[in-house]
Amino acid sequence: MAAAQPAPRGFKGNKQALPSKDCAACGRPMVWRRAWARTWEQVKYCSDACRRAKGRDGPG
Ligand SMILES: [Zn+2]
Repeated sequence: MAAAQPAPRGFKGNKQALPSKDCAACGRPMVWRRAWARTWEQVKYCSDACRRAKGRDGPG
């Protein structure tokens, strides 16, 4: 009971209902992925390549 569901707001199972946003690096539209269910709000790049291209935070 009271289990937190990672499903995004408005998710009903339709692919077209999935949220989307543009990559902060290449600007390509990113469609919500199941792998991003828990980090969607933090996802800014469509791929690791884009993340490494612009995101340089963290140790190192
Ligand atoms: Zn990108």
